[in-house]
Amino acid sequence: MDLPGDVAEVLATSYREVSVQVPLRRDDGSLVVAQGYRVQHNGARGPYKGGLRYHADADLDEVRALAALMTWKTALLDLPFGGAKGGIRIDPATLSQRELQSLTRTFALSLSHVLGAYRDIPAPDVNTNAQVMAWFMDAYSSRHGYTPAAVTGKPIEMGGAPGREAATGRGLVYVVEAAARRWGWDLTGKRVVVQGFGNVGSWAAREFAALGARVVAVSDVRGGVVNDRGLDVDGLVRTVSGGGSVTEIDVAHTPIGLDELMTMECDILVPAALGNAITEDNAAAVAAAVVVEGANHPVTPAADRILADRGVRVVPDILANGGGVTGSYFEWTQNIQQFRWREERFNAELGDRLQSAFTQVADRAEDTGSSYRLAAYSIALDRVARAVRLRGYV
Ligand code: GLU
Repeated sequence: MDLPGDVAEVLATSYREVSVQVPLRRDDGSLVVAQGYRVQHNGARGPYKGGLRYHADADLDEVRALAALMTWKTALLDLPFGGAKGGIRIDPATLSQRELQSLTRTFALSLSHVLGAYRDIPAPDVNTNAQVMAWFMDAYSSRHGYTPAAVTGKPIEMGGAPGREAATGRGLVYVVEAAARRWGWDLTGKRVVVQGFGNVGSWAAREFAALGARVVAVSDVRGGVVNDRGLDVDGLVRTVSGGGSVTEIDVAHTPIGLDELMTMECDILVPAALGNAITEDNAAAVAAAVVVEGANHPVTPAADRILADRGVRVVPDILANGGGVTGSYFEWTQNIQQFRWREERFNAELGDRLQSAFTQVADRAEDTGSSYRLAAYSIALDRVARAVRLRGYV
């Protein structure tokens, strides 16, 4: 795309990378010192924006990659934000609620000087949710005064937006609906496989089922379940919201291993768990017509090439899961205006934005003969590069 070298140099690294120790006093009196991160990749188009993940494998390099992805995502969706990501290297499943709250408050206070409604706005990501955002926002507000717009993905009672929780999974299905119209596909009866049944996967499965598609297999960290006639998605959601695993569902299914699930024959495969789910080891065996990236970077670059060679279409993460941060944008604007939208308005605006982003990507891909991923990146990079120039950074 003829990106000038000086602009490329600014975009190749992060603006700011914060690494902090997050000491936690466990319930048994012992002390754990976890490592926390916040990376602000680029803020030329607006305040830094991106989620916080709590995971045993989170490290600076991963957070750095995810922060850059947020820069491209907010640019592609044309939201007035830059890109950031944060995390704590810890397995939250090993923590009590008190420990999780204490960890979150310490983390919020140690980062608060680089955050704010017009500086950097965190949100949920892997293993964090509305409750974690509530604690985060309370800790931030204890130092800076009541500031709901400093964090998104909050509970409705604390300035959260009706629709935000479902927005990533629902948005993914809006993108697929736009794609289906363009490809002349009828989604009724289409076979859908969803890897990961957290916030993104479970909402995507619900919305696919509501459209009449057949969700034939889903999985979580404990394993997968299959029903060729279509799984009872509401039953799965009930099981999981009670704290269970999809493998404990009490309606008709057969168990399936995680490796097998990724290579099941289907129309739509949605990797919605962690990164690097489709690699050069299993890409040749993927038997889906289209892969829709619910997670961030679930397909490695090597696997991406293999899928492209085999004619498997990929709807890239920065488009497919962009409904989450778009919903965060709606929440942020509502907080700033101190005004609440109805959920119907939220969903209508979400649908419009994602549909328009899909059309731009599909048009660019057609014009240039490139993949959707390259088309999405080139649109996003163009926008960020322009802002970098206009700001006078280079
Ligand atoms: N964690 C989500 C993402 O990766 C949402 C980020 C946000 O809403 O700021 O897009």
